Amino acid sequence: MSFRDTLVTCQGCGKRFVFTVEAQRQMAERGQTVTVPDLCESCTRRVKYGGRLHGRIKWFSAEKGYGFIIDDDGKEIFVHRAGIPLTEAGTLPPLPEGQEVLYEVIESPKGPQAVQVRPYTG
Ligand SMILES: [Zn+2]
Repeated sequence: MSFRDTLVTCQGCGKRFVFTVEAQRQMAERGQTVTVPDLCESCTRRVKYGGRLHGRIKWFSAEKGYGFIIDDDGKEIFVHRAGIPLTEAGTLPPLPEGQEVLYEVIESPKGPQAVQVRPYTG
């Protein structure tokens, strides 16, 4: 079977993306039927993570009260401590560098900002 790059329109966000030969080959190697996906990668991730965004902590300083998340596309997003729900003990959850998190993004006057940031453990 021969594969070729296919242009697909995402059913979730309407963005056009390429279903690459590489992705098709990987599906075939995993023993899956090679079918054109309905959703782009970021929409697929959204479904997987219950409609939320996924990324990793670049750094967060409880002292300074802010930090940054790197999303799965490699973009940096500002996070303020007000956007992090406290634990039952009333403290900030530990957010070491590299910690996986789920979050939402709002537009603030200073640009996009992550809110509802919670550690994600898989
Ligand atoms: Zn999409």
